[in-house]
Amino acid sequence: MEQEIKKYQQQVQESIPIGRPDTDVQDILRAVALAVSAHDGQYRSSGEPYVTHVLAVGKILLQMHIDTATVIAGILHDVLEDTETTSEYITEQFGDEVLFLIEGVTKLGHLKYKGVQRHVESLRKFFIASSADIRVVMIKLADRLHNMQTLEYVREDKRKRIALETLEIHARLADRLGMGSIKTQLEDLAFPYVYPDEYKKTVELLHEVTSATESHLANVAKTLFEELQILDAQVNTVDYRVKHLYSLWKKLKHFNYDINKIYDILALRIIVPSIVECYHALGIIHSLYKPIPSRFKDYIALPKPNGYQSLHTAILDGQGEIVEIQIRTPQMHTEAEHGIASHAVYKEQGEKSLNNKPIHTQSKKHNWTKDVLQVEQNITDAKDFISKLKLDFFDERLFVYTPKGDVIELPRGATAIDFAYAIHSEIGNTLSSVKVNSKMVPLHTVLKQSDVVEIIHHEKSRPNRKWLGMCKTHLAKHHIKKYLKEHGGIMDRFFVR
Ligand code: MN
Repeated sequence: MEQEIKKYQQQVQESIPIGRPDTDVQDILRAVALAVSAHDGQYRSSGEPYVTHVLAVGKILLQMHIDTATVIAGILHDVLEDTETTSEYITEQFGDEVLFLIEGVTKLGHLKYKGVQRHVESLRKFFIASSADIRVVMIKLADRLHNMQTLEYVREDKRKRIALETLEIHARLADRLGMGSIKTQLEDLAFPYVYPDEYKKTVELLHEVTSATESHLANVAKTLFEELQILDAQVNTVDYRVKHLYSLWKKLKHFNYDINKIYDILALRIIVPSIVECYHALGIIHSLYKPIPSRFKDYIALPKPNGYQSLHTAILDGQGEIVEIQIRTPQMHTEAEHGIASHAVYKEQGEKSLNNKPIHTQSKKHNWTKDVLQVEQNITDAKDFISKLKLDFFDERLFVYTPKGDVIELPRGATAIDFAYAIHSEIGNTLSSVKVNSKMVPLHTVLKQSDVVEIIHHEKSRPNRKWLGMCKTHLAKHHIKKYLKEHGGIMDRFFVR
């Protein structure tokens, strides 16, 4: 046993990206030891020791640069349900936070349903879980990713159902959370099981195109890199990526399988150190090559709803080929790959609020869960329920996060003022400034999907009449009016300019 533990600890240690504090690394390795001994004697359908699964989940979470409690919970996500390990022991060894996350994951996996009903239930469970703590969903996505990587060992009749569920629920959720890397992996793993013929066709078409263009593109990348450097642009890397299979197929369907109509199969990706350098590089490229006007997109100034940022352009490369180019900063790249997870990284200080206590959002954060439950009661047909959810919940609602990862649901168009009052009236009333995705922004800034919002308050800050025009929710307006009324004319004289 000792030897087994050492072997697995070493494996995990090698996959820990540098920069994590030493004490955290030690905690992670203790979790590995517990997982190895707890799962001793258990095997997966592939024949491998069961512990390889939970350690794989831990490694996926480590690659996402997520906080240590989540990594440990990922490594221990099956011990409560499948082993003798008790909740008390987990609390004693790793604390309440880890136990809370493991319990969240365990609850998610509990109920079993059949057919479409199963999907409805899964979706609902995900809503509930993410309203409690979004990190539970991240563990579940990492768990699903490894299960999809090993799906070939699952009984054949189960594979398609699992893969379909992955496409409809997990990949969609990963997308909503801006976790591009997990989303694309889940989709490409599920694709061959759900649509085997279409998968084959797409692979063949892609192969024809890439074998011809890949070396050409490598040349363009090299030339561009040199040209940018000659013209004094700061460039980290110029690389290219191949469009992933599932999203290629979705486009192919749209264009009647005419692959020549799809221009972004291969795209150059230019990483530069700052936003200013993004536009600088773009300017140089447009002055050297003819851009195709309709294909230019500024997702830096106007990010996608899930927070995605980059400049997209397409140019004629001088040899009659159209080349798609994406320009972004390293931070935009990390966010595009890991989304919400890149914000959930452990902060040494923790998040403090009024009276130095952590901000609690328990009272407000279950609103959307209640809505889901209500919708479900009114609709008896499960298929209707799903399509309604897809419309209403994924597209019309705005989900933003506290720095701790709590979900706050707001209507579209809501601002930081709405966010502050949604947490607590006292937080709203002492709001002084706000950071969105770690950047200071004005109070009236309209929040976007998946923004991480950090309220900074000051005991001397007070609401003023102008705020009424800077918020969207009735709740915020109600509290501001109430405050102004209670503190009457004096406040008006001070604040109305
Ligand atoms: Mn698992």
